Amino acid sequence: MIPSREQLEQWDREHVWHPFTPMQTYAAEKPLIIAGAHGCFLIDLDGREYLDGVSSLWCNVHGHRVPQLDAALRDQLEAVAHSTLLGLSNVPAIRLARRLVELAPPGLNHVFFSDDGATAVEVALKMAFQYWRQCPRPRPEKTQFLALHGAYHGDTLGDVSVGDIERFHGLFAPLLFPTVRAPAPYCYRCPLGLERSHCRIDCALELAELVRRHADRLAAVVIEPLVQGAAGMITAPEGYLRRVREVTRRYDVLLIADEVAVGFGRTGTMFACTQEDVVPDFLCLAKGLTGGYLPLAATLTTDEVYNAFLGPPEAGRTFYHGHTYTGNPLGAAVALANLDLLQGPGGLPVLPEKIERLRTHLERLWELPIVGDIRQKGLMAGIELVRNRATKERFAAAERMGARFCRLAREQGVLLRPLGDVVVVMPPLAIDLPLLDRLGDVLYNCANAL
Ligand SMILES: *Cc1c(COP(=O)(O)O)cnc(C)c1O
Repeated sequence: MIPSREQLEQWDREHVWHPFTPMQTYAAEKPLIIAGAHGCFLIDLDGREYLDGVSSLWCNVHGHRVPQLDAALRDQLEAVAHSTLLGLSNVPAIRLARRLVELAPPGLNHVFFSDDGATAVEVALKMAFQYWRQCPRPRPEKTQFLALHGAYHGDTLGDVSVGDIERFHGLFAPLLFPTVRAPAPYCYRCPLGLERSHCRIDCALELAELVRRHADRLAAVVIEPLVQGAAGMITAPEGYLRRVREVTRRYDVLLIADEVAVGFGRTGTMFACTQEDVVPDFLCLAKGLTGGYLPLAATLTTDEVYNAFLGPPEAGRTFYHGHTYTGNPLGAAVALANLDLLQGPGGLPVLPEKIERLRTHLERLWELPIVGDIRQKGLMAGIELVRNRATKERFAAAERMGARFCRLAREQGVLLRPLGDVVVVMPPLAIDLPLLDRLGDVLYNCANAL
């Protein structure tokens, strides 16, 4: 029996506990239930279509129901849906590992698969920690991590320890390990009180000083390259990432690049690190890896790190970590097809004109006084709403301006999800120019109506 819409709504309220969702408020409203999709649109139970303006939480790449991705999944179903990667291998996982190594910055030759962005970073944290106990000249006192203010690396406790979003992470403080904290390159609200037009990227200097001071105890620096996503789409000044790499190299600290949000073309290039010629020691990938189809993640690392884990079993150097669905063949097969499309003529090569078109639309928003700042890198952007543009005064949290903006957008057929009062704009990379125009008009109308 197919449940009725009323039943679905009731069961959703009664049984589904939604992530990052205040459930009392959610249950008091009519839920939006997605029943289908095509291209850049999601379709609800009534057949109403919504432009997927945040790529189904930052992971969709080529749109929905993409024939090539669907076919890759069907083909793999004809072979095998799942077998374990613990001491065993499978064809799509091997091919995908090879492909990722070829695409990634040079030297990242080893791929550890997991399921989500959170696990990709958790794996890097644990590997970095274990590396310093087992490397040729062990430094077991290097047990700490440095991360940025406003960092977000996922919701497992290790990731929450390096994370720094008070509303998400504050409560769990008693469960966490301490992390060295450096200022974020948040130019609009510079933590050092400077102006970007005449600063020397002093936040990078401060990070460098912290790395120098704590080098003896630091296992790694963890960073979201080019854009700190969940912090509010904070775009780092050019050269910032390169400096982080220089100072971590100089003081023998590993660098973990969390490209979960920025990887796979989101900032205009396959990976964000390459825009500053940075090769990290760990590259963490998830969200866009399968084009937004299935949960799959990867942590890439170097020969140097990998070799520290070699030895006979009794030497105890093995990395004892893994997840049941690690390297799932369906996920790997769809990831390979995703990469084919991204590298094909309709993928990365056509991004620049889309990025420029989005820029044009975002620039129009400066006319509206509610818009305090606009930050864009590639096809990811944040619009920071403020009560007073001159003083940068924020709205009271209770006014929920970001949520109100997104509510208006939904009425106009665009699905968005804010980060506080920052409206996130992150359409699938497959979006075309006319749809970008439509998205731009809705953004303007909503900001104008508030
Ligand atoms: C989303 C995100 C994560 C966590 O990924 P999940 O798949 O949600 O666990 C980690 N790091 C960054 C930068 C992210 O944006």
